[in-house]
Amino acid sequence: MIKHTLLIALVFGFSFGLSAQTKSTKTENIVLITLDGLRWQELFKGADSLLVNDTEMIKTPGSLMQEFWDANPLKRREMLFPFLWSTVAQKGQLYGNRAYGNNVDNSNKMWFSYPGYNEALSGFADDARINSNDKVNNPNVTFLEYLNQMPAYKDKVFAFGSWDVFPYIVNEERSGVPVNAGFDLAEGPNLTPVEQTVNRLQQEIRGPWGGVRLDPFTHHFALETIKTKKPRVVYIAYGETDDWAHDGEYDQYLWSAKQTDKYIQEVWETLQSDPFYKDKTTLIVSVDHGRGTSRTSWKSHGEKLPEASQIWMIAIGPDTPASGEMKVKGQWHSSMIARTVYQLLGLSYPDSKAAPAIKEMLK
Ligand SMILES: [Zn+2]
Repeated sequence: MIKHTLLIALVFGFSFGLSAQTKSTKTENIVLITLDGLRWQELFKGADSLLVNDTEMIKTPGSLMQEFWDANPLKRREMLFPFLWSTVAQKGQLYGNRAYGNNVDNSNKMWFSYPGYNEALSGFADDARINSNDKVNNPNVTFLEYLNQMPAYKDKVFAFGSWDVFPYIVNEERSGVPVNAGFDLAEGPNLTPVEQTVNRLQQEIRGPWGGVRLDPFTHHFALETIKTKKPRVVYIAYGETDDWAHDGEYDQYLWSAKQTDKYIQEVWETLQSDPFYKDKTTLIVSVDHGRGTSRTSWKSHGEKLPEASQIWMIAIGPDTPASGEMKVKGQWHSSMIARTVYQLLGLSYPDSKAAPAIKEMLK
C-alpha cells in the first residue's frame, strides 16, 4: 500500500513537473460562454428574412427592420452581433458557416440542452445515459470538475447559468464547483454592493419562465465574481435565446442575441483590462444545439429536426490564431471543447473517451 502511494506520488510529481517545464501555451485562464439554442444561421447571416417581419413572430410589424435588417447578410450579422463581427472576427476565430463547408455539429443525437452541455463539458456524447433534461446529477466528469481537482485550479472554478439544471449538469455536489443557476442568489459573507442589488432585483423580477431566469442576473453575478474573486476558470451559460424561440417570439430572440453579444464584449473587455487576465485568458463561445429552419420549426429542436445538430464555436485568446471567419472545409464537434481547453492550458485531458482537441485553435 505504501509502495503504491509512493509510486502515485512520484508519477504525479513527475507529470506536474514536466507539464510546468514544457508548457508552451500562454493561456492560464479559461472563460467558456454558451448561448442556448442560438442558430448558426443568425450568427453568420443575421436576422432571418423568413421571420424578421412575420407578424405572427413579432409583436409590432416593421419594428425590427431598422435595427436588424439589411439586404446584405454580412451587414445583417454585424447589426446583430457587433462585437463578434469586429473584435472577435479580427483577433479570434468563428467556426460553423456551412456556406463554406465549415461544419460544426453535436456529437450526440439528441439535439437538446443537457446532452449538448454534457458533451461540451465532458468531451463526449453519452446518449445512453444523458437523454433527458431531467435534474439528474451528471455521471460524467466535466473539465470543470477535473480542473477543480488540480491544486493550481482548486476553488478557482466557477459556473453560472440561467437554467436551473446546471447544478446537475456540472454535478455541483460531487465536483465542488459552485454553480449559481436558475434563481440562485449570490451567497457568502462578503457580498459586494452589486451582488446585493442583483440579489434584490432577482427576487423582484421573476421573468417569463419557471426554470430559467433572465440573463442579466446570470451575467452580473458572473462578472462580479470575475472582478472580485479572480477565478481561473469560469463557465457562463446564457439561456434566454432558446426560451424566446420556443415561445415563438423572434423579436425577443434577436434582442436577446444582441444583448448577449454586448455581454460577451463586457466579459472580454473586463478580462483584457485586468493584468491578472490580460493576454493570458482564452474565451470560447458555443451553443448546446441548433434549431429548425422553417417558419414554424425554428421554434423547436430535437431528434426529429436534423438541422438542430448544426452548431457553431468561437475562440479568442493568446494561443488562437487570428483566422477570423473559418472558411476551410471540415467537421468539428462541440465534444472537442473539453480537450481543447486542457491543451490551451498546456495540460493533457485525463479522459481518453474525450474527442480530440481543435488543432486549428492552437498556434
Ligand atoms: Zn430548447
